[in-house]
Amino acid sequence: MSEEVFKKVVSHAKEYGFVFPSSEIYDGLAAVYDYGQNGVELKNNLRQYWWKAMVQMNENIVGLDSAIFMHPKIWKASGHIDGFSDPMIDNKDSKKRYRADNLLEDKIARYQKDGKTIKADELQAAMDQALLDNDLVQLKALIEQHEIVCPISGTRNWTGVRQFNLMFSTEMGAMAEGADKVYLRPETAQGIFVNFLNVQKTGRMKIPFGIAQTGKAFRNEIIARQFIMRMREFEQMEMQFFIRPGTQKEWYEHWKNMRMNWHQKLGFGSNKYRFHNHVKLAHYADAAVDIEFDYPFGFKEMEGIHSRTDFDLRNHQELSGKKLQYFDADLDENGKAYGNYIPYVIETSIGLDRLFLATLCAAYKEEEVGDGEKKDTRVVLNLPPILAPYKVAILPLLKKDGLPEVGRKIMNDLKTDYNCFYEEKDAIGKRYRRQDALGTPFCVTIDHQTLEDQTITIRYRDTMVQERIAITQLREILAKEINWSSLLS
Ligand code: ATP
Repeated sequence: MSEEVFKKVVSHAKEYGFVFPSSEIYDGLAAVYDYGQNGVELKNNLRQYWWKAMVQMNENIVGLDSAIFMHPKIWKASGHIDGFSDPMIDNKDSKKRYRADNLLEDKIARYQKDGKTIKADELQAAMDQALLDNDLVQLKALIEQHEIVCPISGTRNWTGVRQFNLMFSTEMGAMAEGADKVYLRPETAQGIFVNFLNVQKTGRMKIPFGIAQTGKAFRNEIIARQFIMRMREFEQMEMQFFIRPGTQKEWYEHWKNMRMNWHQKLGFGSNKYRFHNHVKLAHYADAAVDIEFDYPFGFKEMEGIHSRTDFDLRNHQELSGKKLQYFDADLDENGKAYGNYIPYVIETSIGLDRLFLATLCAAYKEEEVGDGEKKDTRVVLNLPPILAPYKVAILPLLKKDGLPEVGRKIMNDLKTDYNCFYEEKDAIGKRYRRQDALGTPFCVTIDHQTLEDQTITIRYRDTMVQERIAITQLREILAKEINWSSLLS
């Protein structure tokens, strides 16, 4: 899919009530977005897919909903106050700020596009090394050597490369003066770490076990681009899996595979996903891999799987002075209990908004339909039925003759179990198209024959096939098609 199609997906998202720019009547707020009436349904369903797969399907994983505000010392212990920064560079003419590594990545992509693969590889290796060494001077040198210009001003008038912390801060308490500085969490994970013993003890959890949480995270991203790909306020779905030290390699592989399978179950094609190993490891990790998705603008990170060692729990134990240890009564090969230790952690961390964007891009299809004079194109979202915002649209053919009453009756019967859409205006073809554009898997039409023989027409989104069925058959058809089992089993 090209950039051009991506533009269509973005305008589709707006036109059909999936995603709006935040504060639009005030010309928007950069890198902040709102989910509209259909977007919120799709987002809820995607979140539910994750939650069911992680919590409901695993006896040894439980949930948590910790607060966004946390004690400021947490971000000291986690390394975010000292280390959560990106290498930034400013162009003096346009006054625009960029991530130095992103400028270099764009250049590498351009070399590859132009067939200059050796140059691309060389630059990639040099950049990786500079990032590994935290060598800001070398990053600047690479930008100069490769004659990278500012996309806005077109000049090479750059400042030096500096580190820029990504956390938002605010004050707690009624008075700003003298009040404590608190941070908006840049990840949900720390809420899990500091509750590790609360959950373990009250849930009587035995290692290995996991804690899962979904919620908002905030990062003062410098470069905001590609729609909901990089936002300043976004939602994460994270799971921390606590394990015995020394077993991290096998659990890391386990979760890599589990998470890749979870993505592929969506049915968008296995070629859309790939693993990308990290060269530069975050301050907390001893191994890390991304699951990348083939977005219209190229393969980009959607999820990270990190082997976090005991970095977080150990630091929290040190800084808080509270023991964060687990007593393992299982016996080792010498028949001795493993005893007390700080667990190691494997983390799976996915951005709900990036998953949403991937889903929308993969599901969006433009199709030629009909032939001859009736030739037309339709836009359809090929969403897995269980994820669609609406499952069924109830469409009385006419707004009279008792047809709406039958429609309402069917709707009342279904709405306890399915999110239904009701509409009696406009030509039926137009109504079908609107439902296709929302990804509604089934439309049900009520006509005069319905009054005579209690049958309705069911129309399938993907094939556009229409079938006459008895009203009494409807629930059975829906139950067969709309359920979690294809995604979870
Ligand atoms: P990137 O390198 O793209 O900035 P990251 O490696 O910093 O991402 P993590 O800290 O591993 O990301 O966060 C885990 C997940 O959270 C990411 O895989 C991504 O899906 C999501 N995420 C991170 N930052 C953002 C953001 N600014 N907007 C939307 N989602 C994000």
